[in-house]
Amino acid sequence: MANKIKLGHVHLSGCTGCLVSVADNNLGLIKILDDYADLVYCLTLADVRHIPEMDVALVEGSVCIQDHESVEEIKETRKKSKIVVALGSCASYGNITRFSRGGQHNQPQHESFLPIGDLIDVDLYIPGCPPSPELIRNVSIMAYLLLEGNEDQKALAGKYLKPLMDLAKRGTSGCFCDLMVDVINQGLCMGCGTCAASCPVRAITMEFGKPQGERDLCIKCGSCYGACPRSFFNTDVIEEFENINELIAGALK
Ligand code: SF4
Ligand code: SF4
Repeated sequence: MANKIKLGHVHLSGCTGCLVSVADNNLGLIKILDDYADLVYCLTLADVRHIPEMDVALVEGSVCIQDHESVEEIKETRKKSKIVVALGSCASYGNITRFSRGGQHNQPQHESFLPIGDLIDVDLYIPGCPPSPELIRNVSIMAYLLLEGNEDQKALAGKYLKPLMDLAKRGTSGCFCDLMVDVINQGLCMGCGTCAASCPVRAITMEFGKPQGERDLCIKCGSCYGACPRSFFNTDVIEEFENINELIAGALK
């Protein structure tokens, strides 16, 4: 068996729900930790105090720019990691922390929170509030194949991860308005309703076959755009759906 990769979880201004989603892989997570990855850093689960070298850093939460330690932590994470993953919508898009304005006891000056991509280069996003356990699992296995697999496995992992890498290149804002600007306004919406199903706060309803957003409910998680089959549709990978499912199921046996 190839070498295990070094996996870390970096906790910034997040709620730990993303880590719960990691753990919600149940025995799948134990299998990953047995065979494919060592968890070298995770303040919630392990007593390692300082950020070590990591192959893959799963970063949860946004960065409070008035908190010197958090700013240093994200820079250190970039320096020490081969692949930085924004895990969940706070790290990717700011999410609920976009609404922070400070003025609360006992750090009233802690008012500005940015997605990690505004401070460092991020390699890929796993959006979602919470992000899905299956996607976290798949990304972990694909990252392993990318770093430790044979040439075919590396190529497949590269294809699988590409849309999530493209999301990271696209920007750090997530909102219902993404559907308006980048899907509906572009003549791409086919009224499938996937966006409405993916919204964690039910801010989207389908009206006359097209999504209608309740903007005051939207928490700016970016899930709807990520889930929309007209945001990106990676035919290379979708056509290999069964192979990929078998590969992942086989890896977890
Ligand atoms: S998921 Fe995309 S294509 Fe489907 S209804 Fe929503 S915006 Fe339209
Ligand atoms: S509409 Fe829903 S899924 Fe889309 S960004 Fe807002 S909260 Fe997230």
